Amino acid sequence: MSGFSAADLRRMLSRLRDVMAGIGAVQERLDKVVALIANDLRADVCSCYVMRAGEVLELFATFGLSQKAVHSTRLRVGEGLVGEIAAHARPLALADAWSHPQFVYRPETGEDFFRSLMGVPMIQAGRVIGVLVVQTREERPFNDWEVETLETVAMVIAELMAASQIVRREELFQAEGNALLHVRLTGVSLHPGVGIGVAVMHKPHIRIGRLVSDDPVVEEQRLQTALDTLRKEVDALIDSTHGDDFADGYRDILEVYRMFADDRGWISRISEVIASGLTAEAAVQKVHDDTRVRMMQVNDPILRERLQDLDDLANRLLSILAGGGMRAELPDNAILVCRAIGPTELLDYDRRKLKGLVMEEGSPTMHAAVVAKALDLPVVAQVQGALNRIDALDQIVLDANAGQVVLRPSEEVVDLYMAAVEARTKQKAAYAAIRDLPAVTRDGVKVTLNLNAGFLLDMHGLTETNADGIGLYRTEMPFLALPQLPDVKTQETLYKQVLDGAGGRPVTFRTLDVGGDKIAASSGQAPEDNPAMGWRSIRLTLDRPSLLRQQLRALIKATAGRHLRVMFPMIATVSEFQAARRIFSMELDRHYKQGGRAPLSVKVGSMLEVPSLLWQLDSLAKCTDFISIGTNDLMQFVFAADRGNTRLANRYDTLSPAVLNMLASVIARCKAGNVELSVCGEMAGAPLDALALIALGFRNLSMSAAGIGPVRAAIRSAVLADLEPFVRSRLTSPETSLRESLRAFARDRGLSV
Ligand code: PEP
Ligand code: MG
Repeated sequence: MSGFSAADLRRMLSRLRDVMAGIGAVQERLDKVVALIANDLRADVCSCYVMRAGEVLELFATFGLSQKAVHSTRLRVGEGLVGEIAAHARPLALADAWSHPQFVYRPETGEDFFRSLMGVPMIQAGRVIGVLVVQTREERPFNDWEVETLETVAMVIAELMAASQIVRREELFQAEGNALLHVRLTGVSLHPGVGIGVAVMHKPHIRIGRLVSDDPVVEEQRLQTALDTLRKEVDALIDSTHGDDFADGYRDILEVYRMFADDRGWISRISEVIASGLTAEAAVQKVHDDTRVRMMQVNDPILRERLQDLDDLANRLLSILAGGGMRAELPDNAILVCRAIGPTELLDYDRRKLKGLVMEEGSPTMHAAVVAKALDLPVVAQVQGALNRIDALDQIVLDANAGQVVLRPSEEVVDLYMAAVEARTKQKAAYAAIRDLPAVTRDGVKVTLNLNAGFLLDMHGLTETNADGIGLYRTEMPFLALPQLPDVKTQETLYKQVLDGAGGRPVTFRTLDVGGDKIAASSGQAPEDNPAMGWRSIRLTLDRPSLLRQQLRALIKATAGRHLRVMFPMIATVSEFQAARRIFSMELDRHYKQGGRAPLSVKVGSMLEVPSLLWQLDSLAKCTDFISIGTNDLMQFVFAADRGNTRLANRYDTLSPAVLNMLASVIARCKAGNVELSVCGEMAGAPLDALALIALGFRNLSMSAAGIGPVRAAIRSAVLADLEPFVRSRLTSPETSLRESLRAFARDRGLSV
C-alpha cells in the first residue's frame, strides 16, 4: 500500500462508485468492493464487519479470509481488535496485530497467516455501523495517510450500506418486547414541563447521492457557493429575530453561530478533502465525521456539546448542497426525537406545533437547550437508545419534570399527565400571583432574590419573576463555541444589551470561567486529566492577561454611566484576587485616561468556590467588595465529588451538617470583616435549601428563573424566629443530611416548600 497517492485514491474511489452504481445484490456488490480495496491497497485481506442487534459485529464480506466465516464470525463490541475499533470509534494500525493485548484468534477465519492489521470504524450519521479492516501477511507499519485513505473508503461504504439498507432496522436493534405495553425511558430534564404528542424523528442526515467527484475545481466552487448561502441563511434567521420577543433570548447564540460559519480551519479542511477527490457534500461529511470522532474522545463535556453546533452547521451545509430545505412539516402536537440538535435546526420547526424534545445526547449548556428554554419547550436529554426505541408517530408523554419519556402510554397514563399539567399550570399561576410581593418572612425579614443568567434570553426571567437583579452573569456562555474570544467591541455590545435588559437593576458580571482546552486557549494544549481542577477560569485568564484585560475593558465601557459589579471565579488564594483586581484597576485607569465616562459605582468581588479560600476570609474581606458563594463547585471540592457525575448526584447533600457549618462560619467571618455576601450556586434556588440558608443568616440569594417563584413562596410562608433555632440546633447532628428533618419541620408548619 505504500506509495499510494492522492491520484490513486481518486481512481479507487471512482472504481468504487462504479461498483456501487452497478447492478446485482448488495452482497455481491460488497464482495466486489472488498476485493477492489484489497487489490488497490495491495493488502492480502479486506473485510467488512457490520453492526447487528445486541452490539455484535458480523463479518459481512471478506476478500482473503475464509468465505466460510462470512455471516458466521461475530464479535461483541469491545471484543478483539475489530470490537475495539467499534467501541472507541477509533482506527487501529498495527504492524504486529498478534502482539496486541486485545487480539482474539478466530480459527474459522483462517487468519493465521496475517500479521499486520489496519481497521477503521464505518460511521454513518454519527454512529458506528461497522468496521473495515485490511490485513497483510508480512509485518508492516501503516502511516497516517494510509489510515486516512481507509477512513475515506469506509465512509463511502457506510453510505452504500445505508442507502441500500443492507441491514434492516429491526435486525440491527433488539425489539422492545411486547409493543403494546408502554415503555418508560429515563433521561435528564433540560427544561421542565409536560408534552403530550406524537413522535417526529428529526432526520438531519442528508443522503449523499454522489461521493466521488469528476472535477475538484467544480466541487470547490460548489462548496464556496453553498457557504455563501449558509451565511445568508443564518443572517436571515438573525434578522427574523428582530422584534420577536421570544427571539431576544437566542439572538446572541445565532450571532456566535454565524461566526462559526466563517471558521477558516473548518473550511480549509473541507477544501483539502475535495482536492483528494470527493464531492463537496462527501467532503463536508468526512470532515464532520472526523471531527465528531475526535471530539467524542474529549472528556470535557462542554467542548463535546459544541459538537451539536458543528452538526447543525454541517447538516445545513449538506442540505444546501443537496438543494433541499430544512423545514419539515409537523403534526399539530409533535414531540421531536433526535440524537442531538443544533439551535438553528430547532428553530427551523414550527414552534407552535412543537410540544417537546427528546434527545439521546445533550446537556444543559448546549445551545439547543438554551433555545428550547426560550421557547418554553420541555426537553429530556441523555435518553439512552431513544432513536432505536421510538418509532415515528409513536404516542409519547414527555414528562420533563421527572426526566421521563413514556412511550405508547395507555389512556389512563395520558389522563394522569393531563391532570398533572393542570396542577402545574395552577401552581405557576400561584407563583405569578405573588410575583410583585416582596420576599419577606412572616416576621418581616427581607431577602434579596437575584437571577443567575448567561444568555440574553435569561434576561426575560427578570420581568417574568420580578427578581431584584442578576446575581451571577456567566459571561462565557455565548462564547463557548468560538475558537477565540470576540473583540472588545463585540463584547461591549453584548454587555450593554445585558444591562439594557436589566433595566436599571444591578447585574454582577463574572469574568470568563472556561477550561484549559476551551475558548481562546492556545492550540496544541495537552488535554487535562482533571479539567475541573485544571488550568481554567481565573488561572487561565491570569496567565493570559490580555483576555482578562479585553473583557474588563469591554465591561467598563459597557457600564459607563451605570453601576459596575464584576467578580472573579475560582479564586483560590488572596493573591490571585489581588492580581485580578490590579488588572481591573489598570483598565479602569486606562479608561479614565482616554476620557471614558465613569461608571456610577464600582464593586469588585470574589467567588468563593475553592475550599482553600475558607481559611483566608479575613484577609480576603480586606480587599474585596463582596463575596459570592458558588456552592456547585464548593460542594464538589469539599466532598471530592464530581458535580457532573450522576452516580454521585444524591450521595452528598447541600443540607449536610458539614456544608451548613461551613456556610455558618463563612457568614460569621464575612460579618466580622464587614463584607457583602451572597450565594449563587444551585442550592439557593431550592426552597428547602433556601430556608436553611436564610436560617443561617444569608439575605441575598441568586438562582435560575425557575427557582424564584418557589423560593419567594417559601420565604413568605416562614417565620425566621422559628426556623433559625431549629436549623442551628441541628448543626451538631451526626445525620448525613438535615433534609428529612427540615422537610418534616416545614410540613408541620405548613410552609411552602
Ligand atoms: C458555582 O460553582 O456554584 C457557580 C455558581 O458557578 P458555575 O455553576 O458556573 O460553576
Ligand atoms: Mg463555579
